[in-house]
Amino acid sequence: MLDACSTARSAKENPFDIARRQLDDAASIIGLDAEVLELLRWPMREMHVTIPVKMDDGSVHAFHGFRVQYNDARGPNKGGIRFHPDETIDTVRALAAWMTWKTAVLDIPLGGAKGGVICNPKAMSPGELERLSRSYIRQVGRLLGLEKDVPAPDVYTTPQIMAWMADEYSFMQGHNDFGVITGKPLALGGSLGRGDATARGGIICIREAARMLGIDLTGKTAAINGYGNAGAFAHKLAVELLGMKVVAVSDSKGGIFNPDGLEHTALTEYKKRTGSVAGFPGSTSLTDTALLELDVTVLIPAALEDEISCRNARNIRASIVAELANGPTTPEADKILHERGIYLIPDLLCNAGGVTVSYFEMVQNSSGWYWEEESVHRQLEKKMTAAIKTVHQSAVQYRVDNRTAAMIVAIRRVAEAMKLRGWV
Ligand code: GLU
Repeated sequence: MLDACSTARSAKENPFDIARRQLDDAASIIGLDAEVLELLRWPMREMHVTIPVKMDDGSVHAFHGFRVQYNDARGPNKGGIRFHPDETIDTVRALAAWMTWKTAVLDIPLGGAKGGVICNPKAMSPGELERLSRSYIRQVGRLLGLEKDVPAPDVYTTPQIMAWMADEYSFMQGHNDFGVITGKPLALGGSLGRGDATARGGIICIREAARMLGIDLTGKTAAINGYGNAGAFAHKLAVELLGMKVVAVSDSKGGIFNPDGLEHTALTEYKKRTGSVAGFPGSTSLTDTALLELDVTVLIPAALEDEISCRNARNIRASIVAELANGPTTPEADKILHERGIYLIPDLLCNAGGVTVSYFEMVQNSSGWYWEEESVHRQLEKKMTAAIKTVHQSAVQYRVDNRTAAMIVAIRRVAEAMKLRGWV
């Protein structure tokens, strides 16, 4: 008979099934009301769109995309937009659910949403990307608004893409309405400190986890799988703020290793020039599998879902796994890591710095009063440390792993709001 692990070896598990399993597990521990649970197992609203885009060669391509508003009991829906060739509605549903739990764990007054477009942005020109971004907003714009749903950047979307989207939405409204989106460039009402916020929040989590575990991180090693915005800033901040040595990183084109530590500035310049970290002078190449199984103190999955599963969970050698990506660990792998005493900082806590500073951006946009970077860092520090403490208390109280502990905190808060509003 095949066990869950053998099945998972052949196919990637549906991410929405995973999100629901995580929810069900946490719900059963606290004996959540069946009616509340039923509501939490479904997105409240979702839109499937076809997005016509004029390509540079004169043809029109019909792209497909989604916006899923998972639950807005605690406040307006919030969550990024991904541009990715493998996007599916179930991935977006899972990511929207995780946003709902994330904003609840951080106790920011927002719900959860996610958007996605099936496309390969690496094969598109800037003009095509701009037309796709505008066309997507023309389709989903009726769902959006400061009081309704506020998108942000995610995988392969950037502040420039947010700027085009804010501009298109403003035309639809007939006036400037930049607050509809966060992660904007500074010149259009973006927030200082938003660029590195996801990584900074993760670094705060790693620092606090190490403190709890009695590990001095100075001179210790880290490996980062994924070198987009979050991964690259995590490299910089792990060195600058924690005094760590980042010995391995990878992106979609390959991985690199240097036991003496990789230099962040030179590496980001190299990646900018060549399009990848692969082949960085002074490093040797390594596969993703090898990177994930390196003997390092901290492993930072910062790419996509399903990086750590029962395929490799038994081979992970890090003391701390810090999930900067959304959904990098499957439930089976969660169990294995927990049993092996590896301290996992779950995505809904570890990468919540991004949406937390997005919330600060919304506050700044609404009030018209813009904060200094130092204030953003201070408020982020406060929010993250409070959330870490609450999750830790929940893990101790219920004797569960950190993901289940964070889920318990989140669903209690969302359930309370739904009850107060009379939904259940
Ligand atoms: N895309 C980020 C996330 O997954 C940020 C979302 C936001 O700022 O709304 O948390």
